[in-house]
Amino acid sequence: MTTMADVTRMTATEIAALIATGEASAVEVTRAHLDRIAAVDDRVHAFLHVDTDGALEAARAVDAKRAAGEELGPLAGVPVAVKDVLTAKGVPTTVGSKILEGWRPPYDSTIVRRLRAAGTVMLGKTNMDEFAMGSSTEYSAYGPTGNPWDLGRIPGGSGGGSSAALAAYEAPLAIGSDTGGSIRQPGAVTGTVGAKPTYGGTSRYGLVAFSSSLDTPGPCARTVLDAALLHEAIGGHDPRDSTSIPAPVPDVVAAARAGASGDLTGVKLGLVTEFSGEGAEPGVTAAFRDAVDALTKLGAEVVEVSCPHFQYALPAYYLIAPSECSSNLARFDGVRFGLRVGDDGNRGLEEVMSLTRDAGFGPEVKRRIMLGTYALSSGYYDAYYGQAQKVRTLITRDFTAAFEQADVLISPTTPFVAFPFGSRTADPYQMYLADLFTIPTNLYGGPGISVPCGLSEGLPVGLQIMAPTMADDRMYRVGAALESVIGTLTPPEL
Ligand code: GLN
Repeated sequence: MTTMADVTRMTATEIAALIATGEASAVEVTRAHLDRIAAVDDRVHAFLHVDTDGALEAARAVDAKRAAGEELGPLAGVPVAVKDVLTAKGVPTTVGSKILEGWRPPYDSTIVRRLRAAGTVMLGKTNMDEFAMGSSTEYSAYGPTGNPWDLGRIPGGSGGGSSAALAAYEAPLAIGSDTGGSIRQPGAVTGTVGAKPTYGGTSRYGLVAFSSSLDTPGPCARTVLDAALLHEAIGGHDPRDSTSIPAPVPDVVAAARAGASGDLTGVKLGLVTEFSGEGAEPGVTAAFRDAVDALTKLGAEVVEVSCPHFQYALPAYYLIAPSECSSNLARFDGVRFGLRVGDDGNRGLEEVMSLTRDAGFGPEVKRRIMLGTYALSSGYYDAYYGQAQKVRTLITRDFTAAFEQADVLISPTTPFVAFPFGSRTADPYQMYLADLFTIPTNLYGGPGISVPCGLSEGLPVGLQIMAPTMADDRMYRVGAALESVIGTLTPPEL
C-alpha cells in the first residue's frame, strides 16, 4: 500500500502510472508535494513562488479527465517545478531579479503551455541566479538555495532551485534553462539529471532572454527516462520562436528505454582529452574515470579525441553572452515591466531609467552589461565580439571532427563538487570556472546531459554526455545505460 508521503520519492513515470490506474488521484499527488514543500522549503529555498491554487486546479482537471474516460498523456498529473525564467500567465515571474518584482506576465511561454497541454501540474517557480547569470544561485536577489546534500553548500546555478527541488523530493520534474551550463551543472552537484537539448529544439518563446543565441530551456529530473519524457513533452518546433528547428523531437524516450537495458555494444564514446585530465578536482576525475570503466564494461568503445579549441570556449562565452545580455536587458527601463524608481513627477525619463536600473539590477548583472557594452562598442567590436565569434566557429569545427570519430563525447560535467556558500563569490573568474566543461556545447549548439556518476567526499559528481545537433537521443541512450549501473543517488534526510 502506497502512502502519499512515499509518492514524493517516486519517479514521474511511477507517479503517472499511479494516476492512470486510479491508485492515486492527481489532487492527492499534488497535495503530497505541496506538503513536502511546506515541510522543507523554508530550509532549502528552492521556490520563489508556490502556486497552490493553480496546481490544485490543474490536478482537478486531470482527475476530471480521467473520470470522464478521456485518454491521459504519459505525464498527466505529474507535478513539475518551473525555473522563474519562463513566463506563466498571471504567475509572478522575477528571473531572480528585483527589477521584475511584482510582474505577472500576461501570457504563457511555449514551454509552460506545453506542460499544461501534457497535463502536468505546475507547483510553482524556482529560484535562480539573477537573469540566469551565475553558477550557485547566490546571485538571486531573493537569497540563495541550499543544496539538499548539504544545506551549507550551493546547488549549482543558475537553475539551482529546479535541481534542488528534485533532490529535496519537492518535485519529480523540473524545467531549467541552459546558456552555459545552468541545467547540467546544477544537475551534477545535486545528484540529479539535467539535459540541455539541441539549441532550437525547445522554444525560447516566453523565456526571459539572457543570451539569445545560446539560451536553451530543457528538462531536469531524477532519472534519465523521466528527463526524456519531459523533453518529449516540451520539445519540437514552435513558429513563435524564429530559431526553432522545424523538425520533430528525436526519439529520446525510446533511446532512454533502450539504454536502460545496459547494452552499449557498438557505441563509441569520445573522451575529450582536454577535459579528462587536469582542470577537475581529483575526486571528480576519479569518479568520472570509474564511470568510464563501467561504460566500457557495458560494451562501449572509448576513444580519446582532442578538441584543441575548447580551451578558448570560456573566454569566448564571456564576450558573446554579455554582449547579447547588454542588448537584451536594455528593455528593463522602468517603463514597461516591474520596478520603477524615482518617478515622482519631478524627474525626467532618463533619470528614472537610470535610478530604476541601478536599484533593480544586482552587481553580477551590472558587470555583464558593462562587459557586453564594452565588447560591442565601436573600435573594440572586431577585437572582442568579432574574435569571439571566430572562436565559436573553431569550436564547432572541433565538435564536427570529433563526431567523425565518436558517437558522443564525454567529460565530467563540472570541475568541482558543490562548494560552500561564499567560497567563489569574491573572484568572478572562480565562479565562471564551474562551466568550463559545459560551455563548448552551448557555443556549438548541440545537446548535452549530466547524469550522476558517483560521489566525491560524499557529494555528487556528474558525467556529461554531448551529442551532435539533433541527435539528442544518443545522449539519453548512453545516460540511461550509465544510470543502469550507478543507480540514482539519495541525499541524506533533510
Ligand atoms: N554560469 C554561466 C553564466 O553565468 C551559465 C549560465 C546559464 O547557463 N544560464 O553565464
